[in-house]
Amino acid sequence: MNLKKSLQDSIPPEELPRLIRGFDIIGDIAVVIIAEGFDHYEQLIAEAIAAAHKNVKTVLKRAGTYSGEFRTIPLTFIAGERKTETVCSEYEIRLWLDLAKLYFSIRSGHERKRIADLVKPGENVLVMFSGIAPYPLMIAKFSSAEKITGIEINRAAHDYALQNLKLNKARNISLIHGDVCGAVKRSAECYDRIVMPLPGHAGEFLETALRVLKPGGAVHFYDFKIRGSFETSSELISAKAQQLGRRINASNTVVCGHSSPQRFRICVDATIS
Ligand code: SAM
Repeated sequence: MNLKKSLQDSIPPEELPRLIRGFDIIGDIAVVIIAEGFDHYEQLIAEAIAAAHKNVKTVLKRAGTYSGEFRTIPLTFIAGERKTETVCSEYEIRLWLDLAKLYFSIRSGHERKRIADLVKPGENVLVMFSGIAPYPLMIAKFSSAEKITGIEINRAAHDYALQNLKLNKARNISLIHGDVCGAVKRSAECYDRIVMPLPGHAGEFLETALRVLKPGGAVHFYDFKIRGSFETSSELISAKAQQLGRRINASNTVVCGHSSPQRFRICVDATIS
């Protein structure tokens, strides 16, 4: 949908390019990002979205940025049904969630599928920071992993994740509620592959991950970086591996999103000896 085009008769042309910085549709909820100072147009924007997307029942607005341990984002209500809970789907996986209580990005579906496609038959996979379980469910659906474990600290996200396992009839996933470091220490398991989707903070958990990664295992390390500094993430993994007497055998860095025009969400896929 070209939102700006559908608003061209109601909003002055000089304001249109600066007005809307994008929107997402998650289930039957639209979340719009409106530039500062243009709040007086929010009802018009909501009407334009609802007119073009008949399934949208609620329009919310981002009122801040992702923050805090749970990486939640403040949302304010604009129009429609007053609710923040919905069911969305990606690659035929159904995900039940409450946008006000937990982190979820509908934009990362392709990235999750990319990771699932790398998983080899029989692998034991750990998903740190598993949220409402989109990675575990994607891996379960599109790979022949033997077992997938997810760890999530936000009780609300963990509870939705448990519901999502039922919703998708998933069988080889186990979910743990708690802090990654504590949960990993309490377990005796080692993993063929560890997914670390906590960009900006995953480095704090690298040692924990590398200690339970099998020789020759893979880590998928997410980070935020500006162009020209991508290699600092693989250098960090390399340094941490060396401290533990290990080394990177192979690594590949993929750009999988952005948090601002200059700041990219990257994933380092690294195999560790
Ligand atoms: N993997 C999910 C997804 O793709 O939708 C969630 C990713 S979100 C960026 C990061 C998640 O890590 C949040 O749900 C947050 O609550 C969780 N988290 C943060 N610190 C954690 C910790 N120490 N242990 C376990 N989970 C943590």
